[in-house]
Order: sequence, then C-alpha cells, then structure tokens
Amino acid sequence: ETGTAMLAVEELHVSYGKVAALQGIDLHVGRGEVVSVIGPNGAGKTTLAETVSGFHDYEGSVRFDGTEVRSRSTSDLVGDGLVHCTEGRDLFGHMSVADNLALGAFRRGNAEERRAFVYDLFPTLEDRASQHARTMSGGEQQMLAIGRALMGSPDLLVLDEPTLGLAPVVLQDISEGLERIREAGVTLLLCEQNVTFAMDHADRIVLLENGSVVRVGSPEDLRDDDYIREVYLGG
Ligand code: ATP
Repeated sequence: ETGTAMLAVEELHVSYGKVAALQGIDLHVGRGEVVSVIGPNGAGKTTLAETVSGFHDYEGSVRFDGTEVRSRSTSDLVGDGLVHCTEGRDLFGHMSVADNLALGAFRRGNAEERRAFVYDLFPTLEDRASQHARTMSGGEQQMLAIGRALMGSPDLLVLDEPTLGLAPVVLQDISEGLERIREAGVTLLLCEQNVTFAMDHADRIVLLENGSVVRVGSPEDLRDDDYIREVYLGG
C-alpha cells in the first residue's frame, strides 16, 4: 500500500526539547480514505497533525503524494493540495465570513464553485457572509474554518479536533458536512478526542497513547476490542 498511499508516515519521531511527543509513528492514508487519530489529551494528536502539514522538524519520514514533507515549504504544501484546519481555527476575526473564505482559495481553479460547495454544505455561512468571524458562535466558527480549508481545494484535509467544545446539535451539522466532504472524494486525516464521532466517520482508526500507536483498525474492530471499550467507550 505504501506506494499508493496519499500520506505515508514511517518511524516518525517529534520532540519538543526533551519532551518526546511522537515516538516512532507509522501511519498510511490511502486516496479517498478517512483515517481518524484518537487518543487522550497529550497523546500527540495535534503534534501529528501539525507535523504531517509541515509545521515541525521531525525524524523519520512523512510523505505526501510521494514527496517528503520536509522538502517543501508549508505554502508549497497547500499548493500541492495538503490543507490543514487547526484546532484553534485561526480565523481572521475582524474580517467577514466571505473574506475569510476568500483567503482560503490558495490554489488556482474555480473559487466560485468551491464557494458554492461550502455554502451548500453550511448554509449559515452564506446567511452570515458579511458578519465578522469573531462574532460567530463556536460552531459557526468551526464551520467557517472547515469551509475556508475547503476553499483551498484539498486533496488531503487535515482536521485537528473539529468537534472541540461543540454542542450536540452543532456536532450534527459538522457530522453531515464531513460525510459530504468524504463523498466529494477528499482524503481526510481527522484528529479527534471524541471517539464516537471518530468511529462514525472513519474508515480506519489509529489510537495514540503517549506518542505511540497502540491500536489500528476499522471502527468495527475497535468497538469489539475490550481495552477500547473499557477505556474509551465507557465499558
Ligand atoms: P490535546 O488533545 O490535549 O491537544 P494532543 O493529543 O493533541 O492533546 P499534543 O498537543 O500533540 O497532544 O501534545 C503531545 C505532547 O507534547 C504533550 O506531552 C505536550 O505537553 C507536548 N507538547 C505539545 N506542544 C508542545 C510545545 N510547544 N512545547 C513543549 N511540549 C509540547
């Protein structure tokens, strides 16, 4: 599979000074696949998402479409089709929803078409197109962050904790949005602390603990795993 993987991570080590955040990760994501990385606080999910997107120095190998990520600048990577949506959302608060979306349109191609897709996905963004991003609710801001990432026309979309702090009703909107993004053929790496949400959306789940992969499998496999059931699904 390595040859055809859109994302191939091998023996990945990342440290912050003396803190070893990732300790030899192997992970492959095939074209069109949705892989979710789960794990408790501090397991290394954000570090993994950020490293894949070219934000950190690393040992080992991270290849996107066959190219080693460290050999490309982060802006090159966006141009290549690797788009990152941060946990913090990083919106431009004093700019409108529409302008935030426009800023995501990095790649050449049909921005109008992308925008129509985003507005169709999250209609509230169109209703609020002229509203300042900072005045949007947490859920709306998450939709905007995902929408802005989609404006970049990603082949691989790295989503870091899209459900963080969201109410169940908003979670449902994000959930439906993700399904449609997946149907549109976008490959997804979804870092998620909400295990149920991850299992609902992923083809494959990777469990990280203390910077190491401790389980890999389909959601069905992991639902049958005693350890996962006890520790992550509440028995
Ligand atoms: P959370 O869900 O809480 O965000 P996470 O699984 O995303 O957790 P990371 O944020 O990747 O985990 O953190 C992994 C480890 O690296 C933790 O031990 C954390 O304290 C450490 N770490 C993360 N960022 C830094 C940093 N900038 N400097 C030092 N240590 C860091």
